[in-house]
Amino acid sequence: MTPHADPEAGAAVKAADRAHVFHSWSAQAAIDPLAVAGAEGSYFWDYDGHRYLDFSSQLVNTNIGHQHPKVVAAIQEQAGRLTTLAPGFAVDVRSEAARLIAELTPGDLNKIFFTNAGAEAVENAVRMARLHTGRPKVLSTYRSYHGATAAAINLTGDPRRWASDTATAGVVHFWGPFLYRSPFHATTEEEECERALKHLDDLIAFEGPQSIAAIILETVVGTAGILVPPPGYLAGVREICDRYGIVFILDEVMAGFGRTGAWFAADHWGVTPDLLTFAKGVNSGYVPLGGVAISEKIAETFATRPYPGGLTYSGHVLACASAVATINAMREEKVVENAAEIGEKVIGPELRDIAERHPCVGDVRGRGVFWAVELVKDKATREPLVPYNAAGADNAPMAEFAAACKRRGLWPFVNMNRTHVVPACTITESEAKEGLAILDEALTVTDAYCA
Ligand code: PMP
Repeated sequence: MTPHADPEAGAAVKAADRAHVFHSWSAQAAIDPLAVAGAEGSYFWDYDGHRYLDFSSQLVNTNIGHQHPKVVAAIQEQAGRLTTLAPGFAVDVRSEAARLIAELTPGDLNKIFFTNAGAEAVENAVRMARLHTGRPKVLSTYRSYHGATAAAINLTGDPRRWASDTATAGVVHFWGPFLYRSPFHATTEEEECERALKHLDDLIAFEGPQSIAAIILETVVGTAGILVPPPGYLAGVREICDRYGIVFILDEVMAGFGRTGAWFAADHWGVTPDLLTFAKGVNSGYVPLGGVAISEKIAETFATRPYPGGLTYSGHVLACASAVATINAMREEKVVENAAEIGEKVIGPELRDIAERHPCVGDVRGRGVFWAVELVKDKATREPLVPYNAAGADNAPMAEFAAACKRRGLWPFVNMNRTHVVPACTITESEAKEGLAILDEALTVTDAYCA
């Protein structure tokens, strides 16, 4: 499939969308969604024949790129054989998906509870931790996103929580490490790590360790800013959890399955949580799928005592068939290795050069194909280019930046005062360079807002 112009068809799609589709995170009258006609690899295209290099991966999802032929074929084959089966049955593709995920996740995370999405994975991980410990509270960081269902949005620390912040019973937020805007006034990674761990330990002492079921962290924070933890931080949190009998949950919904240049971000630091949540990259979102990888110890809690939770679509066969095909193709085609190499050799160095050239770029950070470019009014004061708000990209400078990218054929990921460089893990060197060159040009728009 290649782009071809059919503006009339596009207009009809758009008209029906505006008449009947209720969009997420938006004032319905204020949006103007692009009608998309097709996609392949690192690109998608509209009905006017415009092609876009996808630097967003559809909410950091299509790690294997758009329309991978082996994954599409696996879904088609499964659809012809068996589409719907309740979770209580054993079925080949579900068993194989669980086996592969257990093999890839760190340590003894050997049992897989399947969900349809990341938020459901988080909801179930928290429920497992509360039942396992018999304790009520859960700690999560301010700079985080864990999903938009009841518990997940309350665990979320960033402004997206504000409108739903009415039922935070049992949730306590704390500051994770972030040297560029250090909550601890640290000036080195070592200091940041040490002070962040001390802060968490102090907070636990005053909340009461015996009341805390779990600490949930994004291994590398995603939409709230691509925050890579300093060396020693995750191991320190692991140690704190062990000391107090607290369940350690790592949320790898966004960071998992290759995004950071490792199968799981936890692999970079050799840390194993008790529960690991995943979604997105497990099958690049070709069919909705998420889940919780569970340690032997927590699984044991539910060996004789029933687990009181479930979903009609848990382990959906089309989703599991696509996960098996995705994981196998990622292994065969060395997709994770590609993400690591592109990050190290192309995206990292080029973004650092871009930061030097543009007054509006305060910081660049990331790993693999998971990078943030943080825009500021003034490099010295680090004042964010736009204030923190609950509406994500709904602000003039960032909207102008996004429009400048789109005019040049790049689809960016924009959130508050940042653009995230999050293309497919399969992106080639020349595609990455093409996108970064457009980003470089578009940043002259935001330079105009700087001191
Ligand atoms: N956790 C993290 C770290 C995420 O990035 C997201 C989604 N961006 C979620 C949970 C929620 O996933 P979903 O939107 O599939 O419910």
